Formats: sequence, C-alpha cells, structure tokens
Amino acid sequence: MGQSMKEVRAALEKEREELARRASKVAANLRRERTPLGSDSEDAASVLQNDEVLDALDAEGRDRLARIDAALQRIDDGSYGVCADCGEAIAPARLEAAPESFRCVDCAELRAN
Ligand SMILES: [Zn+2]
Repeated sequence: MGQSMKEVRAALEKEREELARRASKVAANLRRERTPLGSDSEDAASVLQNDEVLDALDAEGRDRLARIDAALQRIDDGSYGVCADCGEAIAPARLEAAPESFRCVDCAELRAN
C-alpha cells in the first residue's frame, strides 16, 4: 500500500469537510435570498439544517459525499481497498488517485459500459 489508512482517512475527511463547507455556503446564500434583509438571517444561516445543506449540493456533490462516507465506513469495517464486486484488492495507484473508489478498475469499467 502506498498510503497508510491514516493518510487515506485524513484525505477523505478533508475532502468531506470541503464539500460540506461549499454546500453550507450555497445553502446560506439560498436562505438569504429567501429571507428579507434586516431579519435575523445571519442567525438563521448558522443553524442550517442538514437536509438544507444536502439540497444545496448538486447531484455530483451529493454523490461524492455519499461515496466519501461509504469509503470512511469501509475503513472502519476493514473492507477498504477491496473491490465491492469481485473481492479483489483495488490497485493502490487507483486508490491514491481516487480514495473513494470501491471497485477495482475492471469492475468499474464493466459497470460503466
Ligand atoms: Zn472488481
């Protein structure tokens, strides 16, 4: 393995944070548009509901967040780096390029076709 699980987890968590931060910003902006100026919109923005944040993410962002969560889950249960379809080890280079991968190259290509 090129990377330790600790490094992988840190990278995934960082990416998750960035996605969440981006989504929170979008959600706060959306709310500001709907909320008249001068009201307590700043307070409102700070207590954004989780589903509002998710709504603010585009489909790609949501998909990515779900895959990052799934990868973190697999680190926890020890199945990280193993293809979800065929059970073979996923190539370390593939994991380094895309830490949230949960299929080997072959299975991913099979799915994409
Ligand atoms: Zn596979």
